Amino acid sequence: MDPFYGPGRNQLFVPGPVNIPEPVLHAMNRNNEDYRAPPVPALTKKLLADVPKIFKSTTGTPFLFPTTGTGAWESALTNTLSPRDRIISFEMGQFSLLWIDQMKRLNFDVDVVHCEWGTGVDLEILRTKLEADKEHKVKAICCVHNETATGVTNNLAAIRTVIDDCMHPALFLVDGVSSVCAIDFRMDEWGVDVALTGSQKALSLPTGLGIVCASPKALEATKTAKSLRVFFDWNDYLKFYKLGTYWPYTPSIQLLYGLRTALDLIFLEGLDNVIARHTRLGRATRLAVEAWGLKNCTQREEWYSDTVTAVVIPPYIDSTEIVKRAWKRYNLSLGLGLNKVAGKVFRIGHLGNLNELQLLGCLSGVEMVLKDIGYPVKLGSGVAAAAAYLQMTTPLIASRV
Ligand code: PLP
Repeated sequence: MDPFYGPGRNQLFVPGPVNIPEPVLHAMNRNNEDYRAPPVPALTKKLLADVPKIFKSTTGTPFLFPTTGTGAWESALTNTLSPRDRIISFEMGQFSLLWIDQMKRLNFDVDVVHCEWGTGVDLEILRTKLEADKEHKVKAICCVHNETATGVTNNLAAIRTVIDDCMHPALFLVDGVSSVCAIDFRMDEWGVDVALTGSQKALSLPTGLGIVCASPKALEATKTAKSLRVFFDWNDYLKFYKLGTYWPYTPSIQLLYGLRTALDLIFLEGLDNVIARHTRLGRATRLAVEAWGLKNCTQREEWYSDTVTAVVIPPYIDSTEIVKRAWKRYNLSLGLGLNKVAGKVFRIGHLGNLNELQLLGCLSGVEMVLKDIGYPVKLGSGVAAAAAYLQMTTPLIASRV
């Protein structure tokens, strides 16, 4: 028995892990099986054909590691770079900070651009650095597409333009953990060399798959990359791809069946419709925040995230109390403020298999909590603003038209 049982469904609005849809839960509810018998390779073959679609890539090679986003980071770095290689990376929140920490611990020479939390990549700084790098010592530019700690989405197309303008050959490695399958991501068009995500975010699966997609240039780089790698070595995978058995070690079988269904659901809705749904949910959340008289941690509209909103609360309130109370009183799970913004922001995750009415439930919960803790909010104000917008913009469900 769950000692923390609460009636009804937990309203899970942390920015990952997110709700798992029923069809995915059912697809994963199965026994183990011999992964060397024909069904798992057949399933994997189809998955590998479909996974690049979520990155909008036709040229990328996908890898499905039994790991998390952190492992996917490591795979991207160690397969393409050698120890002491120089990387330019931007620290703008807890996840970009953690990736940079990993880069340093893996012995890369990281040129860290510190950005104020709530802002995104400064393109002019990137341009200056690349222009100054006449000898092409910089081997990679690493960027978190959507900084989950602050709700900042970076403009990858603009970063690619700067790299191209400078005619710089560095690899472009992108963390799409809280963006892929929710925010437009065009791996081929934007010249992303390694794109990666984690299963527990917009794919709405359990944690446990680190999904990596490598461009032809990244695969080429692997041939000379001297970083130590074992578990995450792409070459081991490629060897088994050739053999048609696909797995250098035991795959997470149930997760693969879950991934099949998760992809089917996304393709049934249409990836661009999924992205449009996130655009609506993001906008609705921001309208509610505005109606409550609160600020978005994200400093400029161009960086607004459609998967997570970090809400800044007045200094007389500790945002940790908001998160605690939401869970204790309303069975609502919100995201804590992390590191530099701990106590100052709480986060509403609005990603994955989620609809308009679920979001409105969350927003009404947030209003009640704000009132509970003494913030002067008019109950219904945020919900009304969000509902007015959603009522105007929500399309018919494609499969029911
Ligand atoms: N990158 C981003 C943008 C994230 O939001 C997270 C986790 O929330 C990670 C990486 C790390 O992923 P994981 O916790 O699956 O290792």
